[in-house]
Amino acid sequence: NFNLSKKSLEISPSLTLDITAKAKAMKAEGVDVISFGAGEPDFNTPKNIVEAGIEAIEQGKTRYTPASGLIELKEAVCKKFKDDNNLSYLPENIIISSGAKHSIYNALMAITNPGDEIIISVPYWVSYPELIKLAGGIPVYINTKEENDFKYTINDLNRVITDKTKAIILNSPNNPTGALYNEEELKEIADWAIKNNILVISDEIYEKLAYDEETHVSIASINNDIKDITIVINGMSKAYAMTGWRIGYAAANKDIAKVMSNIQSHTTSNPCSISQYASIEGLAGDQASVENMKKAFEQRRNFMVDAINDIKGLSCQKPKGAFYVMVNFTKLKNKTIYNKKIKSSLDFANLLLEKGNVAVIPGIAFGDDDYIRLSYATSMGNIEEGLNRIKEIVERA
Ligand code: PLP
Repeated sequence: NFNLSKKSLEISPSLTLDITAKAKAMKAEGVDVISFGAGEPDFNTPKNIVEAGIEAIEQGKTRYTPASGLIELKEAVCKKFKDDNNLSYLPENIIISSGAKHSIYNALMAITNPGDEIIISVPYWVSYPELIKLAGGIPVYINTKEENDFKYTINDLNRVITDKTKAIILNSPNNPTGALYNEEELKEIADWAIKNNILVISDEIYEKLAYDEETHVSIASINNDIKDITIVINGMSKAYAMTGWRIGYAAANKDIAKVMSNIQSHTTSNPCSISQYASIEGLAGDQASVENMKKAFEQRRNFMVDAINDIKGLSCQKPKGAFYVMVNFTKLKNKTIYNKKIKSSLDFANLLLEKGNVAVIPGIAFGDDDYIRLSYATSMGNIEEGLNRIKEIVERA
C-alpha cells in the first residue's frame, strides 16, 4: 500500500470522459449516435502538410531535434507572429512543444511557485484548473455571464486579485463560449496586468476561427510592456486540422523561454521531428485550406444557432469564434422528460444520449451547470439530424 502523490491525486478525471465513453460504447454496439462532443476539426490535415510529413520520413528526418524545436520551424513561427499578429520575436523566444496543452503546462511550470494564484474565467477549458494544480498553483475563478458575452471586466479582476496573484490565463477566442475580446478590452486588461505586475498566459489556439467581421488580436501586440510579461500560446491543431500531430508553440521573453525550454529538455525532449517538418509547411505554405475550413465552420455555426433558438426551452448566443455553442437549458431545469427530472447538465446530457442517441458535453465540465456544449466540428447533415433529435426530446417537457 503506497502513498501516492497528494498533488497528483487532486487531479480530477475528465468529466467529459464519462459521457464520451458511453457514446463510444453505444456506437460499438451499432447504435447510430450523433456526437456534438468533438474538440477537433472533422477535416483531414491538408494535403500539402501531409506530403511534407511523408517527405520528412522518407528523407530520414526522424532523429532528435533540438529540445525546444527546429530552428527552421522557430523561424516560420516568428514569421507567422510578425505577419498575423504584428509581433516581433526571435527564435530564442520560441519553444515548440507536443501540442498547445504541453506549451501551457511548460508555461505554468516555469512561472508557478507553491500557492501562487492563477486567474481563469468560468466557463473554462477543462484542463486549465488541473494544469494549474499540477504546477503547484491555485486556480482562482471569475464567473462570466451570457449577457456579458461570457467576458470579464477590470472590476472582476480587481475583485479577485490578492498579493498571491501570479498570472491570468486569457483564452480568446474561447473554448467553450466562443467569446472574443476586442482590442479595447485587451488594452484595459494589459494596463491592469502591467500596473499590478501580473503575468499573462494568452491561449490563442482558436485565433484563425473568428467569424463575421471579428478579428483576433493578440494581447501581446498592444505594447512592449505587455509583450514582455505575456506568454503567447498557439499551435497547429485547430487551424490546420492537425490534432494528432501534436505541435504547439509558445513565445515569451528570453528568460521565461529559457526556463520553459529547460523543463522540456528533461521531460519530453523535442516534439515529433516529422510533425515539426510538416508544421513548417503548414505555417509557410498555402493558407487556402485554413480559410476554407473557417468558411465551413461559420456556415455550420449560423445554421446551428438558428436551429437551437427555434427549439422551445433552449437558447444560445451566436459565438464569435472557435467551434462550440453553449446552449442555455435553464428553462428545462426541474422539468420531467421520460420520467426523468432534469436537475443538472449531466442529467440533461445523459437524457439526450439515452433517449435521442445524441452526445453533448455537460456544462459542469467547464464549471457551469446551466449549459451544455455542442461542437459544430461535424457535418451539416449530422448537425441537422442531431438537432432534430434534440428538439423531439426537449419539446416533450
Ligand atoms: N487550449 C484550448 C482552449 C483548447 O480547446 C485546446 C484543445 O482542445 C488546447 C489548448 C490544446 O490543443 P493541442 O494540445 O491539441 O494543441
